Amino acid sequence: MSTVDLTGRVALVTGGAGGIGVAVVRRLAELGASVAVLDLDAAGAQRIASSVGGLAVVGDVTDPATMPAVVAQVEKELGRLDVVHLNAGIGGGQAGVDGALDVERYRKLVGVNVDHVVYGVCAAVPALRRQGGGKIVITASLAGLVGMPADPLYTLTKHAVVGYTRAAGQALAADGIVVTALCPGFVDTLLLGAAKEEFDAVSLPLLTPGDIAGALESVLADGGPGEAWIIQPGGHASAYRPPD
Ligand code: NAD
Repeated sequence: MSTVDLTGRVALVTGGAGGIGVAVVRRLAELGASVAVLDLDAAGAQRIASSVGGLAVVGDVTDPATMPAVVAQVEKELGRLDVVHLNAGIGGGQAGVDGALDVERYRKLVGVNVDHVVYGVCAAVPALRRQGGGKIVITASLAGLVGMPADPLYTLTKHAVVGYTRAAGQALAADGIVVTALCPGFVDTLLLGAAKEEFDAVSLPLLTPGDIAGALESVLADGGPGEAWIIQPGGHASAYRPPD
């Protein structure tokens, strides 16, 4: 893995107060970045931002006004924007295949896992262009590459963002903006919740938030436009190659 030096750079992490987000914020700060932490959880965002001397921003990523306002605030208060990690996400919470559908819950899922990513990319790109390029990393999931029968609606949202990453990555490469996706399997966080019981059944190792932060570092160093990266314990990560 190449080394990453983010000294003098500014990063923004959505869902930065959650399990994976906290590890990512810490790693970005260790690499030298000033970090803005966006989350619904005001106390959590403040706590993690303070711990790295960063900026806490409270907002709901499903609101189309949030990402443009946050990007503007980051540029104003931290001077620039170089790295954006669109990481906030939620689980499906219902089957979504058997007739009964909680539409409000479904719309919220799409709002957080899909709309937020589109709003985030659209808001960030002009700011990244002002720096001559930058990196956008999206936390997708292994459920973006294979079907997860326990949560079809989550699978739908993560396939959507992997597809968007592929296309946006190609569309923005000429601007020096590299868009990539992280596709972890099960990670030991609050989001995993009850699904934690399943990881044995599908023979996947349980990853830690630190593994995802390690993979992020690899992706920032070596990720190519539109690539989706799979992650192993220890943070070892590699670009996913679809079967022939
Ligand atoms: P988490 O629940 O620990 O953290 C998610 C964070 O996002 C929380 O701090 C929460 O407050 C924030 N958030 C949720 N909705 C928001 C909104 N509308 N506006 C702003 N912030 C919001 O979950 P996590 O496991 O750290 O998940 C992070 C990402 O990793 C998600 O995109 C998730 O889909 C993905 N992921 C998780 C796993 C896993 O097994 N935990 C596996 C693969 C991918």
